[in-house]
Amino acid sequence: MDIEQPTLFPEPDGWGDGRSLHDVEYIHTRAKRIVNRVPEASRMPFRFTINAYRGCAHACTYCFARPTHEFLGMNAGEDFERRIVVKVNAAEKLRRELRDPRWGGDHIAMGTNTDPYQPAEGRYKLTRGIVEALGEAGNEFSILTKSPMIVRDLDVLVAAAERTHVRCNLSIGTVDDEVWRASEPGTPPPRQRLEAVRRLNEAGIPCGVLIAPVLPGISDDPAQLETVVEAVLAAGAVSVAPILLHLRPGVREVFMPWLAEYRPDLVPRYRRLYAGSYASAAGARMSQLVQELVREHGGLPVGPSRTRLAA
Ligand code: SF4
Repeated sequence: MDIEQPTLFPEPDGWGDGRSLHDVEYIHTRAKRIVNRVPEASRMPFRFTINAYRGCAHACTYCFARPTHEFLGMNAGEDFERRIVVKVNAAEKLRRELRDPRWGGDHIAMGTNTDPYQPAEGRYKLTRGIVEALGEAGNEFSILTKSPMIVRDLDVLVAAAERTHVRCNLSIGTVDDEVWRASEPGTPPPRQRLEAVRRLNEAGIPCGVLIAPVLPGISDDPAQLETVVEAVLAAGAVSVAPILLHLRPGVREVFMPWLAEYRPDLVPRYRRLYAGSYASAAGARMSQLVQELVREHGGLPVGPSRTRLAA
């Protein structure tokens, strides 16, 4: 990817009402390819992705994508949050790649390495252009986001859903305002995301929720999870799945200093729990608890869309 001129916008169109988004630098680039093939060894439930941006001004402390910024010669901390690479030719490139006779029409996932509806999207509308292109080509796709900005694109999402399978997921790790403000300072409030879940499902776009990530000792209390499950079911989510925090190298260097400041009492526990990248036993217990909570609160809506979870 060739990086072209940097562009400074003093005040991007932001949804987050946590951290100030002033002084975000947007670096324009023209991507040589826009559809990425996921490595064969990956356990992700999709084989192709599109990321119109690199870096993410949502600035989640735990973001697993942070180390990818290092491949661009930038750091996984502030650079990842404030130096956003914008693939300005994303939609036009996609149209060309979808027309290529070698393209097989596979499912394409968005939101796997950056948020497609981060503040930059308010200005650049690249995700909107991508949704239009996929819809016109009848190519199935899914979107994972933390932003209610997705409802801006209801018109093109509905048009796409008339021609192909479209699936959305909102990521809502907590509805506890204090935890949200501390851990995801640049993201829109969880209540706005719940409203987006409701609007998408009402418009006929199946939308689920990933309770992600759940932070041990911070947002994994059964009462906290029950509050999330109740809110998510009330919003009409067609699926609910929790994901416990992963802390891989490159991410823990950003996350652990944050934890040491926010909850120093938890540092020894995290060191034990995350001797590897993932606390698998705790993750399995939490998944079971969430399934039980979903059942106790009346279960998911019945319908064909509840079975599909791409992003
Ligand atoms: S919204 Fe997603 S991609 Fe953006 S910083 Fe948060 S976890 Fe990372």
